[in-house]
This record gives sequence, C-alpha cells and structure tokens, in this order.
Amino acid sequence: MGRLAPARSVVTKPLDGEEFRAMGHQMVDFIADYFRDLETYPVQSQVQPGYLKKLLPESAPQDQDSLEDIFYDMHSKIFPGITHWQSPSFFAYYPSQTSTASILGEMLSASLSVVGFSWITSPAATELEIIVMDWLAKMLQLPSEFLSTGNGGGVIQGTACEAILVVMLAARKRAIARAAAEQGISEAEALGKLTVYTSDQAHACVNKASQLAGIATKNLRLIHADASTNYAVCADKVAKCVAADKAAGLIPFFLVGVIGTTSSAAVDPLSDLGDIAQEHSLWYHIDGAYAGNVCICPEYRPLLNGVEKADSFDMNLHKWFLTNFDCSCLWVKDRSPLLAALTTNPEYLRNKQSEANAVVDFKDWQIPLSRRFRALKLWMVLRMHGSDFLQTYLRSHCEQAKHFETLVRADSRFELMSQRIFSLVCFRVKPAAGDKGNGYTLNKKLVEALNTGGDIMLTHTTLEGVYTIRFAIGGARTEMRHIDAAWEEIQRQTSKLLKC
Ligand SMILES: *Cc1c(COP(=O)(O)O)cnc(C)c1O
Repeated sequence: MGRLAPARSVVTKPLDGEEFRAMGHQMVDFIADYFRDLETYPVQSQVQPGYLKKLLPESAPQDQDSLEDIFYDMHSKIFPGITHWQSPSFFAYYPSQTSTASILGEMLSASLSVVGFSWITSPAATELEIIVMDWLAKMLQLPSEFLSTGNGGGVIQGTACEAILVVMLAARKRAIARAAAEQGISEAEALGKLTVYTSDQAHACVNKASQLAGIATKNLRLIHADASTNYAVCADKVAKCVAADKAAGLIPFFLVGVIGTTSSAAVDPLSDLGDIAQEHSLWYHIDGAYAGNVCICPEYRPLLNGVEKADSFDMNLHKWFLTNFDCSCLWVKDRSPLLAALTTNPEYLRNKQSEANAVVDFKDWQIPLSRRFRALKLWMVLRMHGSDFLQTYLRSHCEQAKHFETLVRADSRFELMSQRIFSLVCFRVKPAAGDKGNGYTLNKKLVEALNTGGDIMLTHTTLEGVYTIRFAIGGARTEMRHIDAAWEEIQRQTSKLLKC
C-alpha cells in the first residue's frame, strides 16, 4: 500500500461556513496546544535581526498554501522570533494580558468585521460600547458625570497615546477659543503660548501628544519628581510653575496626573493636582494606563481619589484586565469639547439618526474614521468573569509582588529602589563599595543573563539616573510558584556574576 497523502486544508471559497468550521477547529487546537506548551519556550526570543528573511521566500506564493504548511512554518520559523508575553514568567515592561473570553470576543468581532464609525453602521456596536463603558465606570466608582447619562461618557480608543492626544486636541481648541475671546489674540499666537504640565516620570505619550498637537517644545513642562516623594510629582512645584508661566504671558492649558507611572508605578497627588487645574482652568487628564485597572478593588480605589476633579481619565485594559490589545478606555466628563475638535460630517455619511442628534457617532470621539467592534471582547471579559473574580485576580498579582518584595528584602545583596504600591517591584543588586558606575554594569549584565537564559524575562529603567531592574507582575497565568522560581533564577545568576 502506498503512503497516505498528508492532509491539506486549503481554502476553496474565501468565506465559507463549513471550511471555516473545519479550519477553525484546527486553529483552536493549534492555539490550545500553544497554551499547553507555553512554558517550554524561552520567554524572550533569542533570534538575531533579519533572521526571518533567510527563512521565507522572496515573494508571495502564486499557488495556495495549506493550513498544515502554515502551522509547520509557525512552529519552525515564526515561534523562534516570538517573545512570549503570555508566559507566566514574563515580567518585562507591563503585562499584555489576553484570556479565553477576550480571544473569543475577538473571534466574533473579526467575523462580523463591522466598522462602527456611525451608529447607523451597526447600532449594537455603538450601544454596546456605551453600555460596557458605563459598567466599567461603575466598577471604578467614577463620578456620575463620566457616565453616558450625563454630559460625558466613555469611548474605547486604540491606545493610551491616542486617548491623551484626542483630549489634548479638545483642550487645545477650547483654550485657543478662550484666549481669542479674553485676550483678542490670533489662533497662531495662542498656540505658541499653550503650555503643558506633567512630571518627568509621566509616559512619553505626553511628549508625543504635545508634538502632534503643535505645542512648542519649550512649553512642555516635565517637572522633576524624585525619591523623596517615591517619584510622585510635588503639587507645589506644579502650582509654582503654572503661576510663573502665567505671569510670563504664557497660556497654561493641560495638566496630566499619573496613577502608576511607567518607570516605577508612582502615584501623583491626584486631588491636589485637580485643585491646581480647577484654579487655573486647565484640562486635567489622569493617565492610569496600567494601575487604573486595579482601582476596581475597593482597597485600591482611594488612590484614584481626585478623579472627580479630572476632565478625562484613561486606562489600558490591554495591560492588566484580561483583555487583549487593543482596548484603551477613555472617559470624559463633558463630551462637547471632544466633539467640537473632532467632528466631521461629509455628505456620504449623512443619515437621519445622526442629523436628528439622536445617537452617538464614535467617529467624532477619535482620530480615525473606522473603528473595530472592540466592545464585544470587553463585554465578554466582563460577563465571563464577573467583577468579583476580576477583583480577586488583580489583587493576586499585587500579593505576588508583595511576596517578591519580601524575597528581595531577605537577601542583603539586593535593595529595593522605590516603595511598591501595585504589582511592580523596582530593585537592583547593590553595587560594590567604590563602584564608579553605581552598579550599572553589574545590573545590566544581570538583566542580559536572565533574558538570554530564557527562563524569565524582565526589563529595566533608570530612577534618578540609577540603573534599576523592573519586575512587573501580571501574567494571566502567573502563580506564586513562578515568582519563587524567578527569584531563584535571579539569585543564581547574581551569584554567578558576583563570583567572576
Ligand atoms: C503603557 C503606558 C502608556 C502607553 O500606552 P499605549 O496604550 O501603548 O499608548 C501610557 N501611560 C502609561 C502610564 C503607561 O504605563
């Protein structure tokens, strides 16, 4: 008997229910196997730049490739170039979670492939987004002004960078109109005077939004925050800076407070900053990209106090809420400045419901026209877990971080570099006496050794110029035993480095 020909699943019709069923099952099996085997891969990809070009053909195939061929290439060619963000031993950057519920939601969304820019293009896409954003606002105990029932509401953006840009554009338009009315100056002159405030620990999204919004580079105030306040900005310094700029004829218009900075997860004095914003009529944006999520737990919610004084608040569910990228949730207290800055109304999109002002058209709350049906995955994440589970879950990562911190404290070769608040621990190996580089080389070598070892992955930052290792917990599958194993590995590599 001859050999059986290997199975070949090829597409004969681009969108056929039965072909999708068969190949969909194959894909689900492939993904389930991936999750089963996740811990067998090195966490950080170990390939060299340009590795893939050597493995793939020069041009796209003329004939059809089968799904089996593609699975083979996934294993042999793509996976080596994957850094496994879902590994329970991934402690780099901030987490990028996904989950069964979220993936299933993405499947639905990709299958419907509706483009919900206006309500009429798929009423459920807009209405579900409004509903889940209200649900989430209630879980966070945001003030009622942020709900869709008042003048404000929530909208899902792609990223925290887009979120801050759209609110900055809204604030810019408002500030320029105000300057024209009160001081009689031109738009161009006002734009040149607009000034932005945040701490030097804030994410680079503030710099990027300022650049895109045409704010003069010299008018971006990154106010220094240091160890004396655990890297939170000092409100007095901000107030003095705003007052000095006003006295010099500038137009302060935008203030960003951060809950959970990217370097060390510091929390700014949100309420005090809110007072400054109110006194000087600044747009006050709170960036909670990472740490905002954990404020669904009552014991963390006080850290968000002051949000009632904010004009806008944003958090990334795609970091730490079991929701895969992209899902950045932005709430505004008053949607009219946003609409004033971003509304377009071309003839080819006109429709009865929009003209009658009876509906929300999310195209006017964001930069692009087109938008994905992201509310589906959020709806599924919320429904398939429930808020009790989500709270317990986020809390467990903070408990793991607390445990890690205890381990660091117990080994005198190490020191903590900031006070931990959430699930990020900043630490380093203490430098030898007289080390001119203040531990830079030793700690950098340690991070490199750990990441090339493949068992765990972590990254670094600098705090006041000092090289600092970040241990960011939040993997959907990370358990206490992974924390213990990671610490053993860190100790082992450190002992090796200290010996040579
Ligand atoms: C991660 C992060 C951002 C950027 O998020 P994107 O969604 O990638 O734009 C902004 N701010 C803070 C505090 C962050 O931690």
